[in-house]
Amino acid sequence: MKPRSEAKVSAQETKFDLCVIGGGATGAGCALDAQLRGLRTLLLDAGDFASAASSASTKLVHGGVRYLEQAVKSFNLEEYRMVKNALHERRYMLANGPHLAHSAHFLVPVYSLARAAYYLAGMKMYDALAGKGNLFPSSFLSRNEAIARMPGLRKAGLYGAVCYSDGQFDDARYDLALVESFTAAGGTALNYARVAEFERDKNGKLAAATVRDELSAEEFLIRAWKFVNATGTGADKVRLLANPMLAPRMHPSKGVHLLFSSETFPGGDALLVPHTEDGRVIFAVPWQERLLVGTTDDEVTPATRMVVQRDEADYLLRQLNPYLEAPLRREQILSGMAGLRPLVAAPGHVKSSKLIRDHEVELDSLSGLISILGGKWTTHRLMAEDTINAVQREMGGPVLASMTKQYPLAGARGFYKDFSRHIEKEYCLSADVARHLAGKFGANALQILKLLNENPSWKERIATELPIIQAEIVHCIRNEMAETIEDLLARRTGAQMYSWSEAVQAAPVVAALLAAELNWDSSRTAAAIAGYSDKIGGFQRELGLHEG
Ligand SMILES: Cc1cc2nc3c(=O)[nH]c(=O)nc-3n(C[C@H](O)[C@H](O)[C@H](O)COP(=O)(O)OP(=O)(O)OC[C@H]3O[C@@H](n4cnc5c(N)ncnc54)[C@H](O)[C@@H]3O)c2cc1C
Repeated sequence: MKPRSEAKVSAQETKFDLCVIGGGATGAGCALDAQLRGLRTLLLDAGDFASAASSASTKLVHGGVRYLEQAVKSFNLEEYRMVKNALHERRYMLANGPHLAHSAHFLVPVYSLARAAYYLAGMKMYDALAGKGNLFPSSFLSRNEAIARMPGLRKAGLYGAVCYSDGQFDDARYDLALVESFTAAGGTALNYARVAEFERDKNGKLAAATVRDELSAEEFLIRAWKFVNATGTGADKVRLLANPMLAPRMHPSKGVHLLFSSETFPGGDALLVPHTEDGRVIFAVPWQERLLVGTTDDEVTPATRMVVQRDEADYLLRQLNPYLEAPLRREQILSGMAGLRPLVAAPGHVKSSKLIRDHEVELDSLSGLISILGGKWTTHRLMAEDTINAVQREMGGPVLASMTKQYPLAGARGFYKDFSRHIEKEYCLSADVARHLAGKFGANALQILKLLNENPSWKERIATELPIIQAEIVHCIRNEMAETIEDLLARRTGAQMYSWSEAVQAAPVVAALLAAELNWDSSRTAAAIAGYSDKIGGFQRELGLHEG
């Protein structure tokens, strides 16, 4: 990616074919698809790329076994089609980012023969829907097999487990790989750039937008022939900016996750808790040397805050603990995250957990704004394809084929299974550092390791317990438009998910590297460290955890 200052100049000086508003999974997917079809494209995000729902997901590349159950029980063809599409998309997502996504086994513990038969039949249907894209056939595991695979499972009354396959991925880094692939294809991307207002041509169609630089508070104008609104839960605000007569469509729901040490529930497989007190499912998934537990699904009210609250953590533990031999405790939480699902409202009042995760491309004929609403991470590519088809239809030229089904993303070319071992040996790295670099950056880890020639001391870790070296931070500042401590610790490196306490310890080192690269003065650096520590301290206090 270009440095932010250069991208900002290009954004102002170019007349674009398309401006995509929103740099989450949906917007980044749209921008890549459009640029690869030859449209000169600008991608803007009001915050950092992937700073909203796209880094707060359960990190599953899946059709959704619960949605399939819902579809069958309610004869909902639309939902059935959504699961099928997602299962097909799963294949592309795994293949295009092999360093960021992989298949995994999920175990559903069962406590009777009848339940075993029910879940196995459901999973066989899930396999069949995936067709050629199925990852492994689902199977029944005896009680002993289940305990051997998942030693932390509650043994009393256990009949066995149904094992099925799905995908897992690194959501924030996948988003960044989409943005990086887009800019490598010639696109212009800018973070901290909020679309605040539109300007129209003489026919009332959108022709330009006032953009507010959220870092400098400066405003500037950008011009494009077409605008795509891919702002997730912010979609209604942008729709109303374009046309105040539009009725709201979004019905967001809040979901939280908790992270624990992987020793709390050993084993390499994921657990699906098949029934919660509100009729949903939750997951406990091994993720990047941690256990990720989630998620909740709560209606958003004016009082909703974007932090993990104590009652939400207690809810998750209450659902999970009956399945564990050694129950998890709130004091063991290392980190957490909260996000809002961009669900589209259904007619009538439906609980958010019942709203289907399908997407919709909406054209506002008055302003020409094209909004992409709803969907999920797994279907981001298909959503982008449908959206850019609509853009090209509106432009009146040919609708070209999307090129993204088989398009290796940044870091994928040159990456192979033993890549981490290769860099571990070649650069004398610790195994955890090599695994981390390969898993987050794929073959682009080599660009990071080259920086060690410039400054060998960048081989030092940013905190003792974190597998992150200083060269990684410098690379992300120079090449991935990281502008704040949080950009680096939450999304570029994942340290904030790994451990809140470790992230706070790393903040001064990260701030010093930001200061050196971006010419921050000492007061700005100190304020950045204090601001970050306060924010994380707030997250910890919210859960009643000790700070630091
Ligand atoms: C708790 C939870 C768990 C989930 N789990 C899964 C899962 O396991 N698998 C799966 O497939 N899906 C999952 N999802 C769904 C998935 O995460 C979302 O569907 C997806 O990330 C939405 O991406 P998006 O780009 O549409 O929205 P977002 O990621 O919210 O991005 C929208 C972006 O628009 C920007 N924006 C807003 N207004 C403006 C403006 N005026 N100008 C410029 N930019 C603006 C925002 O800053 C934001 O970055 C989950 C979601 C949640 C919340």
